[in-house]
Amino acid sequence: MNKRVAVVGAGFAGAVLAHELARSGRFLIDVFEARDHVAGNCHTYRDAATGVMVHQYGPHIFQTNREDVWRYVNRFAEFGPFTNRVKAITTRGVFSLPINLLTINQFFGKRMSPRDAAAFVAQLGDRRIAEPQNLEEQALKFLGRELYDAFFYGYTKKQWGVDPRNLPASILKRLPVRFDYDDNYYDARYQGIPIGGYTSIVEQLLDDPAIAVHLKQHVTRADFRGYEHTFYSGPLDAYFDYELGRLQYRTLRFERFDAEGDYQGNAVINYCEERVPFTRISEHKHFTPWESHEQTVCFREYSDLAAPGDTPYYPLRLNDDKDLLQRYVSLAEREPNVTFIGRLGTYRYLDMHLVIADSLDLAKRSRWPTFTQPPLDKSPERTKHSGRAA
Ligand code: UDP
Repeated sequence: MNKRVAVVGAGFAGAVLAHELARSGRFLIDVFEARDHVAGNCHTYRDAATGVMVHQYGPHIFQTNREDVWRYVNRFAEFGPFTNRVKAITTRGVFSLPINLLTINQFFGKRMSPRDAAAFVAQLGDRRIAEPQNLEEQALKFLGRELYDAFFYGYTKKQWGVDPRNLPASILKRLPVRFDYDDNYYDARYQGIPIGGYTSIVEQLLDDPAIAVHLKQHVTRADFRGYEHTFYSGPLDAYFDYELGRLQYRTLRFERFDAEGDYQGNAVINYCEERVPFTRISEHKHFTPWESHEQTVCFREYSDLAAPGDTPYYPLRLNDDKDLLQRYVSLAEREPNVTFIGRLGTYRYLDMHLVIADSLDLAKRSRWPTFTQPPLDKSPERTKHSGRAA
């Protein structure tokens, strides 16, 4: 007889796992999703007013180095080529981001070669800092005060809501610094955006007679009693009904505005100045350069501490959170027949491709561990960028 399995959350973590278990022919799967749609924070829809494909929970650009993951997602969608070439508005003007040779030459009014620029930036760095203890020191050591103030200080403060001296250096390691003219935000070998949107991929993953999807279903521990195993991609602390307290998250708020034509000429523009209240503006039609639209829809993005009821986006992972996390992990490890998966289940900042890779690996195992991602390891911001850090 087929074993009954519960999957909580219909984002990529849950959907890939449900799909793979269904394909094995040995399981019957109930997928419980609290929202009224699948695909989690990757959810996309075609906007009725403009015809533009909108990423409801903020821009999602698919990028991975894993050929198996890239092949896998391409079975469910045609991917259009997309390279994220972010621009940054700073007190000193508009620049290319990540910091690259164009940024450096324009910012300092120079015409340096890659080698000269590397030497130039090295002498800007603060040599008194041996081992950077926080994000600010990391930036000052490798880039110096001017670049830090223009690109990182204000943005980081807005994004994380705390002074950059209270954040781990590792956050900055997500972002490469390049001494050539490559302005691709990511280093990954495979990059793109699904032409039909992400939600269509997840719908296909869940389209199997062995899978029943239950939308708008808030489930709790008590609901999993009849199941052989549960895969839980909701927030770890929510699983335990916050009995030890709440892990902290940043949430995002998107303020929509529509315009004619082309508003900003690029998909993403960061606003690095502290005095501008939002972190960036995304113009979603530029995520599908293969389409053409007369009208445009843009979103200003604001970052806040998540209050109860807000959508959690970024696990904060400050020291207090790590202590609490440690205690939740101990509880979780004593919970029989549950595996915590995905960004919320493991309280780690995971990108789509990492979550998919984890679920593919998990589905192949004969025994399931409590966690696939060690929530307490030393590299909390394991990452979207495989490249070199500042
Ligand atoms: N960051 C910054 N200014 C920018 C872009 C990024 O200071 O214009 C910092 C910020 O602290 C951010 C980190 O670099 O959290 C990593 O950037 P990434 O683009 O990976 O952030 P995310 O996509 O997670 O918002």
